[in-house]
Amino acid sequence: MKIVVASGKGGTGKSTVAANLAYSLIELQSVTLVDCDVEVPNLHLFFNPEPAIKEVFTIIPKIDSDLCTLCGDCGRFCRYGALTVLKDRVLVFEKMCHACGGCMIVCPEKAISECNYAVGRVEDSNPLPGLRLISGFLKEGEVLAPRVIKDAKAAAEGDGLIIIDSSPGIACPVIEAMDEADFCILVTESTPFGLHDLDLAVGVTKSLGLKAGIIINRSDGSDEDVRNYCRKMDLPVLLTIPFSREIASVQNRGDLISEKLPGWKEQFAGVYKECLELCGVDE
Ligand code: SF4
Ligand code: SF4
Repeated sequence: MKIVVASGKGGTGKSTVAANLAYSLIELQSVTLVDCDVEVPNLHLFFNPEPAIKEVFTIIPKIDSDLCTLCGDCGRFCRYGALTVLKDRVLVFEKMCHACGGCMIVCPEKAISECNYAVGRVEDSNPLPGLRLISGFLKEGEVLAPRVIKDAKAAAEGDGLIIIDSSPGIACPVIEAMDEADFCILVTESTPFGLHDLDLAVGVTKSLGLKAGIIINRSDGSDEDVRNYCRKMDLPVLLTIPFSREIASVQNRGDLISEKLPGWKEQFAGVYKECLELCGVDE
């Protein structure tokens, strides 16, 4: 079972939800928590892991200047603008390369070969009994977040219950995180902006054919607009987390409410149970 936790916008408490959900289940079964918010991963801050580290590479072209005739075919072919053919050499802009491999195919002189280029790392740890934490980190200045997300998810492949913390928004990294998930928990706040961004995120889950449910975070009790929207879109509200000083102070210390406050572990375990039911999976 793969559950992805996502949100239409940043700052809704998505990572906190993913961490609480994972923590609430580890007494019942092993959980693998995968941090795919690779530009700003933060799940490791909840668990203080001692990880094994693996670099993530992509492939970029390497030009053999002895073979290159400066014909220009590669530069014309690359739709990402990663190659520029000058009068005396070919420039490769590594960060713009999408590793499609096309330039190597079109080069008539076979002057282009592949070389590895590091874009990030994946950290793998077992910070608590029953909990495996895999975190993807995109290197500063790099743009190929989906490449790092792919490797982070691949490391978890074969594990029983996988909870994926996605990037916020609806761009490529989110699609990559949601790919092949069984269920999506969308975390939102009951504000007009929150509802607008929730609607965008729901659009993504619908277009991927992904079942989804909603968690309303930092609720001040005025959630009618979000609840009406959920009813209209046939989306279950799985949990409502109130805006409270007690919850905020636990979270501000970097702690989990499922560990520190009574009743929350059970509430998050209930969310998981409902996800299973909505997916038609027996416990
Ligand atoms: S396609 Fe090959 S030969 Fe032509 S400019 Fe590029 S690297 Fe050089
Ligand atoms: S591998 Fe693809 S994206 Fe990268 S430089 Fe070559 S053509 Fe461009």
